[in-house]
Amino acid sequence: MARFLSSTSGLERVTRRRLFLACLALAGFIYFLRGRKAGVTSARVQSGAGGSPREAGRAEESAYFLNETSWRAPVVWGDSQASERRRDAHAYQTFRVGLAVFVVGRYSQHLLRFLVSAERHFLLGEYVYYYILTDNLRAVPDLEMPEGRELRPVHVGEMPEWRRLSRVRMSLLADAIKTRIQKEVEYIFCMDVDQEFVNPVGTEILGDLVATLHPEFCGMPLYTFPYEKVEVSQAFVEEGEGDFYYTSELYGGLCAEVYAMALTCTHLILQDSEAGFHALQYEEGYLNRYLINRRPTCVLSPEYSWWDSPRTLEVPVQRIVSVGRQCAALEPQRREARRC
Ligand code: UDP
Repeated sequence: MARFLSSTSGLERVTRRRLFLACLALAGFIYFLRGRKAGVTSARVQSGAGGSPREAGRAEESAYFLNETSWRAPVVWGDSQASERRRDAHAYQTFRVGLAVFVVGRYSQHLLRFLVSAERHFLLGEYVYYYILTDNLRAVPDLEMPEGRELRPVHVGEMPEWRRLSRVRMSLLADAIKTRIQKEVEYIFCMDVDQEFVNPVGTEILGDLVATLHPEFCGMPLYTFPYEKVEVSQAFVEEGEGDFYYTSELYGGLCAEVYAMALTCTHLILQDSEAGFHALQYEEGYLNRYLINRRPTCVLSPEYSWWDSPRTLEVPVQRIVSVGRQCAALEPQRREARRC
């Protein structure tokens, strides 16, 4: 009987151990899934132009996922206390800020929406000059602007082909900063024009060198980043190198910093072009290469560059939505509905 009892409890012990191990494996699996795209909180993400409301997912995790980089640069979430402090610190200073956008060929269709939304949300109360680098000055709308805010068109030669434009954008930007922009403003930001401001963007974004986290790679492991992998390219990033993957939809900072970045990227692109090569992610590849060597002093969270796709990180507040990348992420049927 005693033997029978002891063998029964032995059996129970084995079963319990198996059960425990199964639970542990299940918990690990759930943890892994949550790390990729979790449903954590009851908070809801505000609906922007491009996205429908949905569960905040990684929002709270991501909101507190990082407030500072390892090199002590702030990671900016617009509603955080740190951002409020940054805005307060800037409240009694006057800044002149340039916002540069390329508007070449058919992209002029995006300009009005971009400007109207910027006038609603971008650095309200500050001096803002929109540098519209365009091949068609007539495409610049005749908008009435409040005092201290102006449209300042800059003519660039015709670039009929997108691939060609992607090769020269950095050099055109460097040239515009050198010849004009640096004399007129302290800060310059560069954005893709097929975007829309959907919530306030204030002085919390100001910094010497500002880069924005790509919403599809924020919080993802380093090995998933689409850094340039071809060794001969000037944009090449070695395995294990890098901190974050930044988007080319929005970057900026002091004129001198952005000029140095645009000039270096121009040289890298030129060297690759001469060798008959171009980085897979176009200038985003060169930008990321540069930002590994010269880390940004201010990192904007994906609130400042967002679009709805299964891969994007949920954010507490969408502030700038990329209409272009949103369209690219949609199924063909939904593209038509959104008039992409
Ligand atoms: N662009 C333009 N004309 C073109 C292609 C691009 O003016 O024919 C400008 C425009 O500001 C656009 C930006 O370059 O927003 C980036 O181009 P795109 O949106 O095609 O690139 P991606 O979002 O894929 O980086």
